[in-house]
Amino acid sequence: MRSQATQSGHRTGKKIASSFGPLKVLLVEDERDIAGNIWDFLERRGHVIDHVVDGERGLARALEGGIDVIVLDLGLPRLDGLELCRRLRAAGDGVPVLMLTARDTLEDCLAGFEVGADDYMVKPFALHELEARIGVLHRRGLPPADAQLQVGDLAYAPATMLARRAGQSMPLTVAQGRILALLMRESPKVLRREDLLHALWGEEGGSFAALHTHVSALRAIIDRPFGSSMLQTIHGIGYRLCVEP
Ligand code: CA
Repeated sequence: MRSQATQSGHRTGKKIASSFGPLKVLLVEDERDIAGNIWDFLERRGHVIDHVVDGERGLARALEGGIDVIVLDLGLPRLDGLELCRRLRAAGDGVPVLMLTARDTLEDCLAGFEVGADDYMVKPFALHELEARIGVLHRRGLPPADAQLQVGDLAYAPATMLARRAGQSMPLTVAQGRILALLMRESPKVLRREDLLHALWGEEGGSFAALHTHVSALRAIIDRPFGSSMLQTIHGIGYRLCVEP
């Protein structure tokens, strides 16, 4: 199958300024045609690309740091994308991760949110859209202005992406941190799913299923170990965060 990601269109050889600053992108992709065209496109847009072709090397490179965003293929030799992402988060690294998947492995990719991926794209995709998505992820990964949010015994510092409860410090992913910050700022109000989706993925949308997976992963971190349910689902409407009565 030829992917749109292998059709990078005309090549002017000219660098075209992107709508946001140059990003350092780690591309972990074993399909060389796709990788080459993503690389060419992003480089012409002024970004700096580091490309590796297997999961083990990808994880090692990611852990060296200095990366703004990772574009991670799901199916990789030596270490697949899910396991790479899981190990990255286990090491406390919150760098934004966008997963690439084929249509027939979309379910696996959604499981990626449980292991800390922030967004995904299904092949084939348009290269312009890939660039827009990594720009959004990067901006969200930047520390927001507010220092610390507090609801009950739960604290969250967006600058460090660390949640704190009962003396325990818990690193969150970009998406988890963003959801938690929104819910904490509005607590105890209910946030509609549509509004959360918009805040997370902007005009590009995103699905309720993906949002639900992020919220479940967040709940497993901030609630489950403490035997309480501050993060509540309002069925069919949205979510709220509040101190239990
Ligand atoms: Ca692959």
